[in-house]
Amino acid sequence: MEVKEIKNSTLAQNPVIGQMLVNNHEQLLFCNDNATGLKAIIAIHNTVLGPSLGGTRMWNYTNEMEALTDVLRLSRGMTYKSSVAGLNLGGGKAVIIGDAAKVKSEALLRRFGKFVNSLGGKYITAEDVAMNSRDMEIIKMETDYVSGLPENMGGSGDPSPVTAYGVYVSMKASAKEAFGIDSLEGKKIFVQGIGNVGMHLVEYISKEGAKVYVYDINEDRIKNAVEKYNAEFVPADKMFDLDIDIYAPCALGATVNDETLSKLKCRVICGAANNQLADEKKHGELVMSKGILYAPDFVVNAGGIINVYYELEGYNRERAMAHAEKIYGTTWNIIQTAKTQNIPTYAAANKIAEQRIESIAKINAVL
Ligand code: NAD
Repeated sequence: MEVKEIKNSTLAQNPVIGQMLVNNHEQLLFCNDNATGLKAIIAIHNTVLGPSLGGTRMWNYTNEMEALTDVLRLSRGMTYKSSVAGLNLGGGKAVIIGDAAKVKSEALLRRFGKFVNSLGGKYITAEDVAMNSRDMEIIKMETDYVSGLPENMGGSGDPSPVTAYGVYVSMKASAKEAFGIDSLEGKKIFVQGIGNVGMHLVEYISKEGAKVYVYDINEDRIKNAVEKYNAEFVPADKMFDLDIDIYAPCALGATVNDETLSKLKCRVICGAANNQLADEKKHGELVMSKGILYAPDFVVNAGGIINVYYELEGYNRERAMAHAEKIYGTTWNIIQTAKTQNIPTYAAANKIAEQRIESIAKINAVL
């Protein structure tokens, strides 16, 4: 996809459209409503494959530029995630500026819903940080362009089981490359963060006979994983000293960084967390040079977007799970492309995502 190198001096003078030029964003909608206190930005990165879909994040950004940069980065990420997952969706995202605990209200969310509606379906929203399914129900009062609704409203409900299944099959594909066999039996796997996705993952891999290590800041969750799945708890200060086969980051982003890579002893990194590489280029190349196979996060955790995609067609969990299963083949193709072209796996995934968009853009041009 077309990208432009923009000089910092040019960006300083043109901080809005200048930033859109960098990754060829299609559209931004700035939303304001004094009565409700709504301040939001909706970013549509690319709609070649279909309507842009991505969650709404509510965050108390320190300034507008921080919010703009975030929404541009996140919406672009959605384009790549949906493309590589084979979905007919483009990339979009929204941010509402403000402290959710203080300013979120029914009126603010409904006003936001009206703005989403004004785009006529070019952007479909969903949950993200500081937004929940009840908020989606409220937004839905003003627009049909919402997904990720609760099951009792005809929605797809909690995406975590589908996401975890995608992580599991991706891990198996990665294991096949790294160990010559896709069975996880006997493999030592460290799952960092045993929340909604992590706990389902622990269930899959422990059933397959993996030796599972866990860490979470929540003691109840640790207790649960230890008692139910015979997992072994690892204290925070020891987790990157473990001698393991697979590291599965399922809590926070940026855990693959200079510090962790100086200690990490594993053959594979494959987990659900978003933005695992602190610096995509630097750490993507570093893992490769260390002989660690990194399964790109946006490929691995696509089960969540796959789940909401099927909600748009009248939800059916079997179809969502069947699509999530394809993440095995996608991961395998990306690993093979990276190997053949001698490039990091994240770069191979980006290429594959871009090639799909470019080829569909060509057929879209034909009457
Ligand atoms: P969650 O909030 O249910 O679970 C996160 C877990 O991480 C919690 O148990 C929390 O206690 C733990 N945690 C927080 N800080 C930690 C720390 N410093 N060290 C260790 N554990 C810590 O979230 P989730 O839905 O399970 O999602 C997990 C990750 O996967 C997130 O990064 C999320 O963005 C990403 N993801 C989730 C989905 C989905 O379908 N839920 C889809 C795509 C990506």
